[in-house]
Amino acid sequence: MSILSQPKIVAGAFQDAALGPIRRKIEAGERLTLEDGLILYETPDVWSVCQMADAVRRQLNGEVAYYNINRHINYTNVCALSCKFCEFYRKRGQDGAYEYSIDEIRNLTREAVESGATEIHSVGGLHPYLPFSYYTDMVAAIRQTADEMGSDLHAKAFTAVEIVHLAKIAKVFKADDRQAGIRWVLEQLIDAGLGSLPGGGAEVFDDRVHNETHKGKIRSDVWLDVHRVAHELGLNTNATILYGHIEDRKERLVHMDMLRKAQDDALSRLGYESDAQGAVTLTREGVEMPAAGNCSKGGYFQTIIPLPFFPDGSELEQLPGPGGIENLRTLAIARLMLDNFPHVKSFWIMQTLAMTQLQLCCGADDVDGTVVWYDITKVAGRDTHQEVAVDDLKKAIVEAGFMAVERDTLYRKVERNGKNWSVRER
Ligand code: SF4
Repeated sequence: MSILSQPKIVAGAFQDAALGPIRRKIEAGERLTLEDGLILYETPDVWSVCQMADAVRRQLNGEVAYYNINRHINYTNVCALSCKFCEFYRKRGQDGAYEYSIDEIRNLTREAVESGATEIHSVGGLHPYLPFSYYTDMVAAIRQTADEMGSDLHAKAFTAVEIVHLAKIAKVFKADDRQAGIRWVLEQLIDAGLGSLPGGGAEVFDDRVHNETHKGKIRSDVWLDVHRVAHELGLNTNATILYGHIEDRKERLVHMDMLRKAQDDALSRLGYESDAQGAVTLTREGVEMPAAGNCSKGGYFQTIIPLPFFPDGSELEQLPGPGGIENLRTLAIARLMLDNFPHVKSFWIMQTLAMTQLQLCCGADDVDGTVVWYDITKVAGRDTHQEVAVDDLKKAIVEAGFMAVERDTLYRKVERNGKNWSVRER
């Protein structure tokens, strides 16, 4: 656990005078407003925005940039929904539709353990016919296979959207008391061996965007309910924002604000003091970072993962998608607005490794992992086999000027001897 000092922003006047008051707030550990966020989006001086995000990133995580060795399992692409920005889903019986058996999950887990992975990250479509037991069996199969092989492999699985789908399949989801059904599902999955929740399915927390691009998916209040219950049960979770389609920048900022309010609640439950406005910021001098991996202190958002929208193959193919500067700026703003998130991930699969190197200098402290298979979004010109060798990840981090540190899912440092590994509590 580290005690934080003030962020060190290089002295000197900004080209854009509107950034001065924002810098003063950042240096004082004060929360930025939505209006501040809009200034950060609209200023032509994007490099000063990146510089401020870098100062906060160094305040929270020093010179360290994290990577992990993991394997993604997208257990089915069959989905009851048809989100417009999604190129992954298929309808049952359609060409290319698939679902893995539990035996196949076991085999993939075995391969992951043999490759030295510390994590399985498993998400999929909302399959209309698989029974609830399939999901608990999947998690149990991952954990049992790992146990048999003497590995502490972590099972991170199911977005909030899938958790609600599971509650509906299990017939425990009630609109007038949805947290009860969500809690029941999470308890069954925790019993089976679930270790944490990923952050997908959040998209953009806005009803207009929801209605136009992913109607049928859960709305922001339900997504936040799932994470709230997970936090109450001691699970750490992550969060995403899928940007660069039909949403505007203000809607992105509202999304970030809703996430940081949810994190205020989570950190308050863990004993953090809030200010008069109810804000709990990690960027104030003297505040402690949440203890990585300490289960008795689990139950908060670890990471925000800004995900750029890829138009190719989706129903929104006519849109251009975000450009490189917008990707840099959005990640930097996420670092500055989400003052109570310990980590910001540049998910290299969607950003590309070259962009991830730049983002490490603009607020990111995590590049995710070696990701053997990733079916959800294909970067143009690549197939789904998107493995990057550990040496390449480390080289990319070092070339960006940071110290490459392998982490487990809960941001504990991994001690590795070839394929064998253990973790050190911080
Ligand atoms: S984004 Fe998720 S819920 Fe929407 S269609 Fe794709 S797989 Fe289904």
